[in-house]
Amino acid sequence: MKADNGAPMIIAIDGPAAAGKGTLARQISSHFNLAYLDTGLLYRAVGKKVLDAGGDPTDADTAERIARGLAARDLTADGLRLDAVGQAASKVSAVPGVRAALLDFQKDFATSPPAGAAGAVLDGRDIGTVVCPEATAKLFITAGTEVRAERRFKELHEADTTVIYARVLEDMKERDARDSSRSVAPLEPAQDANIIDTSLLSADQVFDQARAYIASKTQKA
Ligand code: C5P
Repeated sequence: MKADNGAPMIIAIDGPAAAGKGTLARQISSHFNLAYLDTGLLYRAVGKKVLDAGGDPTDADTAERIARGLAARDLTADGLRLDAVGQAASKVSAVPGVRAALLDFQKDFATSPPAGAAGAVLDGRDIGTVVCPEATAKLFITAGTEVRAERRFKELHEADTTVIYARVLEDMKERDARDSSRSVAPLEPAQDANIIDTSLLSADQVFDQARAYIASKTQKA
């Protein structure tokens, strides 16, 4: 399926942590036959490698060197979903050199998706604003901080019953603040993004709204 002008369809999904971006991106990917890139994994992989090497994620030189040497196998490393890795990802992602090092890979994925895919869907924080400003459709997925912290808590609790909700909420606030206030590519909706607040919606309701919006942009349902 191509966008109206014959170019591959590119769907950009941005928003804060645990708002439902990943779930929506997977649904869109399978419905429209699009390749999916979770761009948070790139930053998580850099953050994890810095931590594994005993480095400081706020040290710009180390973080940039590791980002430049990132390999495909790093994206499947164990432990990328840990909260500590999310925090490290948020720190390395504020380094301009790290963002620059990861930009071409993301742009290439969007414009030349793997064979067989009709286009690509990418989720992250700056897809609609920086990585793919030309995207076919841009979605900004958000939800209240407490709602997102509760969702993340449930996820983490399945793997580790010692997780404390108050700590998850604190971490979420800290990460939101850092992602929104950094000078390069801060988390913010693109001017032409369709904003969906998922606080009171089921995953299927979010998908229905997103699909209707994409249809309005492409004449494809
Ligand atoms: O989405 P996820 O929680 O996996 O992302 C981890 C961190 O990576 C985010 O908190 C954010 O700081 C960073 N990130 C980013 N730009 C993206 C995707 C993720 O800065 N496009």
